[in-house]
Amino acid sequence: MLQQVTNTGLEKQEITLWVLRTDQIHPQISGNKWFKLKYNLTEAKRRKFHTLLTFGGAYSNHIYATARAGQLGGFRTIGIIRGEKTLPLNETLAYAKEVCGMELHYMNRTTYRQKHTSFVISELQAKFGSFYLIPEGGTNVLAVEGCKEILTDIDLPFDTVCVPVGTGGTLAGLVASLKTTQQALGFAVLKGGDFLYNDVNQLLKAYDEEKLLGWQAKYRIALDYHFGGYAKRPEKLCEFVNDFSKNYQIPIEPIYTGKMFWGIFDLVEQGFFKKKSVILAVHTGGLRTNA
Ligand SMILES: *Cc1c(COP(=O)(O)O)cnc(C)c1O
Repeated sequence: MLQQVTNTGLEKQEITLWVLRTDQIHPQISGNKWFKLKYNLTEAKRRKFHTLLTFGGAYSNHIYATARAGQLGGFRTIGIIRGEKTLPLNETLAYAKEVCGMELHYMNRTTYRQKHTSFVISELQAKFGSFYLIPEGGTNVLAVEGCKEILTDIDLPFDTVCVPVGTGGTLAGLVASLKTTQQALGFAVLKGGDFLYNDVNQLLKAYDEEKLLGWQAKYRIALDYHFGGYAKRPEKLCEFVNDFSKNYQIPIEPIYTGKMFWGIFDLVEQGFFKKKSVILAVHTGGLRTNA
């Protein structure tokens, strides 16, 4: 599950970079999504819900993973998709619907922005009956609980754990599991990610308010490796992703893990990490096999 990656920049500073392959956990519910969903599904079962409802964009890894996890857990699943329906369905939605039986419904962007308000939720309840709600991206306190387990069983004495950041749920879970000498560094995949500090702090606060101050001091988010925005795929990033995948035999993709590894290499060049640091990069998945 741990794989070492090296290049001349790392060697020059005697920095060790390990990659934690959570992408190998499950062919469809891979990477961080497995940890984020774990306790949400347990909770839905415990409270005797038969239906899971969640939100996402048309290419969402979270929709994809929830469709499969819900199916395996014996749930009816409903996916509320941002924007207009387009046919034919893309691979994500076709898999969710046709293979996993997720019911897809489309929500216009204006309403989608208010999706977590009680008004929109009660409209959805009127339409679909009772359901267990998993927020967009699967991020809530139970996701933090699950992501706390990402580093369980990892004996590596690392200094910094790195992770790509979408909503920040995974980063929050990692931060909550660190030892005193360890730090976390997130790489924002969205443009203008300053708000993420607030989101991560809110999650950590909801998880355990007494530990918030200590936790806040243990993480940072690199905001400059978004490459223009979430779904932008500039040529140089795609080339990097291809080279990385080939050189290290670790498949990555340009939306999340590609930005993180680019960012790590760049920060190493800049001397951001102490000499002889041990870095652990969490490969959060995002590649679909057997789709
Ligand atoms: C969803 C996802 C993330 C983002 O996780 P957050 O908890 O929302 O920050 C990172 N990497 C991959 C591959 C993902 O699919």
